[in-house]
Amino acid sequence: MTDRLKGKVAVISGGASGIGAATARLFVAEGARVIVADLQEPLDTALADLLVSNPEAAKFRRCDVSVEADVVAAIDDAVATWGRLDTTVACAGVPGQGAAADITADHWDRTFAINARGVFLFTKYAIPHMIKAGGGSIINISSAFGIVGGPHFAAYAASKGAVRNFSKATAIDYVGHGIRSNSVHPGYIDTPMVQNIVNNAPDTGAAQSMFNALQPGGRGGVPEDIAWGCVYLASDEARFVTGTELVIDGGLLAR
Ligand code: NAP
Repeated sequence: MTDRLKGKVAVISGGASGIGAATARLFVAEGARVIVADLQEPLDTALADLLVSNPEAAKFRRCDVSVEADVVAAIDDAVATWGRLDTTVACAGVPGQGAAADITADHWDRTFAINARGVFLFTKYAIPHMIKAGGGSIINISSAFGIVGGPHFAAYAASKGAVRNFSKATAIDYVGHGIRSNSVHPGYIDTPMVQNIVNNAPDTGAAQSMFNALQPGGRGGVPEDIAWGCVYLASDEARFVTGTELVIDGGLLAR
């Protein structure tokens, strides 16, 4: 590894599993110190090993991103532990499946509470610390379905579209403080979220084929494919990158 994030402090929501866990592992490998903020325990196995083997660089904190006090506590924990905050990766998310006529208003609200409100709260409470630090990088995980619609993902696609434009609005508002804000748009990535959808489908084979068919290459990516994009956005290599969408989708949006 090449210390691309040496000295930086990050809080990663949804960091216990899938894309968030891979991001936490790569951030630490590149020299960052990381708070992993998530509802879920147990953790991804490799991440759990990292927390034990490298407690000076990575710490777990239970956090429901839809609860304001939890988000404040996770952000404050990073600053209290390591004295600064450079980066947030808002990765916590739920799939919010179903077509518009088939989902309830409560389902819509819960999807937005995590996928959109949670992202807003992370940004809101990170900004004062980033201003104090002279800048920072806000990284919000949206989706390819935050750019185009997805079949039977009405609430999800709407919430991910909100993340995309919120990230742009934030980029404009805080560019004068050296704060960058960008959204990341994964295609289908093989993670526990997708595995759960497939396993709970009435026809698991058909569900898996549906995901594979989204991708021009016929198969999904792995969490590290997205995590490397987050390393780039958190690093000084991306110092002129703000208000944009980093699409990492194996060509899903190309057709
Ligand atoms: P994942 O493995 O399920 O990881 C998401 C994590 O977020 C889980 O640990 C989950 O905990 C946690 N979480 C859920 N609700 C939370 C809350 N209220 N507060 C804190 N943490 C919460 O899923 P993933 O595939 O890595 O997804 C990560 C992000 O990428 C999500 O925002 C997702 O929408 C986005 N994304 C994924 C794909 C894909 O194909 N995998 C594609 C595009 C975008 P629980 O397990 O306890 O719910």
